[in-house]
Amino acid sequence: MTINDDLFGRAKAVLPGGVNSPVRAFLSVGGTPYFVARAAGSRVWDEAGREYIDFVQSYGASILGHANPAAVDAVRTAAGNGTTFGAPTRSEVELAELVCSWVPGLEMVRMTSSGTEAAMSAIRLARGATGRDKVVKFAGCYHGHTDSLLAAGGSGVANQGLVGSAGVPEAAVADTVVVPYNVVPVLDEDTAVLAIEPVAANMGVVAPEPGFLEACRAECDRVGALLLFDEVITGFRLGRGGATAWSGVQPDVWAFGKVIGGGLPVGMFGGSREVMGHVAPLGPVYQGGTLSGNPLATAAGLAVLGQLTDDRYDELISIATALADGLGEALGAAGIAAQIPRIGPLVGLFFGEEIVRDYDDAKASADLGVYPTFFHGMLDRGIAFAPGAYEAMFPSLSHTAEDIARTVDAAGEVAAALAAG
Ligand SMILES: *Cc1c(COP(=O)(O)O)cnc(C)c1O
Repeated sequence: MTINDDLFGRAKAVLPGGVNSPVRAFLSVGGTPYFVARAAGSRVWDEAGREYIDFVQSYGASILGHANPAAVDAVRTAAGNGTTFGAPTRSEVELAELVCSWVPGLEMVRMTSSGTEAAMSAIRLARGATGRDKVVKFAGCYHGHTDSLLAAGGSGVANQGLVGSAGVPEAAVADTVVVPYNVVPVLDEDTAVLAIEPVAANMGVVAPEPGFLEACRAECDRVGALLLFDEVITGFRLGRGGATAWSGVQPDVWAFGKVIGGGLPVGMFGGSREVMGHVAPLGPVYQGGTLSGNPLATAAGLAVLGQLTDDRYDELISIATALADGLGEALGAAGIAAQIPRIGPLVGLFFGEEIVRDYDDAKASADLGVYPTFFHGMLDRGIAFAPGAYEAMFPSLSHTAEDIARTVDAAGEVAAALAAG
């Protein structure tokens, strides 16, 4: 028995499935998760001392790679000055100023401790601001695990083979309507908000088709509904201005998370000064948090965002392009049918012949059942992809050309083995 098996056994006795977030349990790929002991840059090492080139990168929370020295220093310094006060701090102001200066149309934000809270609060804000209840979301888009948003939530839920979640009362989803991605929904005047991942990255990576986001914007305007961009993955990853700058479409409310915390727990929701004027204490929409705007997280966020110049985004995109092109060639050379969508630095992988444009297509690809074999073949060769077919890959700024070459070589070997059956 390996040390990972031993830890997994102990974990399963005290944590449901042995984990604190379901996908980590390897349920959809089988086998024993590697327990991470430490990480640096593009690498993680497990408790058994095995080294992996890591494309999970905390599902996108880490963009510079693990244990970035400037971020580690910033957190050390902040920790020495006290970790939470229940009073405002300078670094919250600086982080808010920074993100508002980067995202077109974003004027004010409120910080939370997770992306779930950010999306949940953005929905409450939209309902409070419009005086309407109905939420329209797209199948396969994940907005965290809030009751009203879990319906057809993509990766986290889909990897478990569940459509939604037990324990969500019908009343909680009575005002949630789920529609297919890449089809402009017809809204009515009861709609408070249309929520979307402007580039979907929780059903694999699915791009919005040309004109789709613009048409969603116009449909919201037609009925007076707010448009919510859930940029928890795309924010500060597609570029400084996230999917907003990338698409040129401005929503009314945003949710952020992952990258902005520099690897610590942070979320943020925001909007124009007018919309955010509804948030307490300015307005009647209540929202708060003991650890919100936490000094460790804001210090890490500032240390990471401070390094993200436009040049570094170009660099990240070229790393992602090398990965996507290399994987495409490796799989193609072995005769394995696959699509490798790449949107800026976001890379996806769908097995099968069909172009994936919505959740049904993504599910059909996952149902081919190729991913678990591919995943384990890569893991055996020291390459860590996410343990689920619906996740994106997250190359970081620490991934070198050599890391990518090793990954592509491994993919070639695994593809040849797959082809040989
Ligand atoms: C990860 C994610 C969330 C939830 O964020 P947590 O920090 O896990 O609560 C919400 N929306 C999107 C698009 C995400 O990818």
